Amino acid sequence: MRIALIAHDKKKNDMIGLAIKYMDVLREHELFATGTTGTLVMGETGLTIHRMKSGPLGGDQQIGSMIADGKLDLILFLRDPLTAQPHEPDVSALLRLCDVKDIPLATNIHSCEIMLRALKNGIFENLD
Ligand code: PGA
Repeated sequence: MRIALIAHDKKKNDMIGLAIKYMDVLREHELFATGTTGTLVMGETGLTIHRMKSGPLGGDQQIGSMIADGKLDLILFLRDPLTAQPHEPDVSALLRLCDVKDIPLATNIHSCEIMLRALKNGIFENLD
């Protein structure tokens, strides 16, 4: 599966922790990320990640474009709901496209864990 990782600044440590905890699952898949998230997760885990531009500089739109093109299967997006984001329109557009295209999307750490455990246990493959 093709999985996108995105974390707002105050959630980046959570994303790193998640990637470390589920490294065995993640390494079986093709990973994409917004720029800073990808750099940090790669640095901490050694996972190979295709990095887009930084989120505020167009990275969310690049991920959104991939969703629109059917090139992503799962989005793990640790959003910060308590901090205003300069690129909020891009964030909203990305989330909207997940619903347009019916792409699984997790926006908090618990949801991400459930998704990753489902992935590990082969649940995604059995959805149809
Ligand atoms: P970043 O982008 O990984 O480049 O920080 C994330 C975001 O803010 O959307």
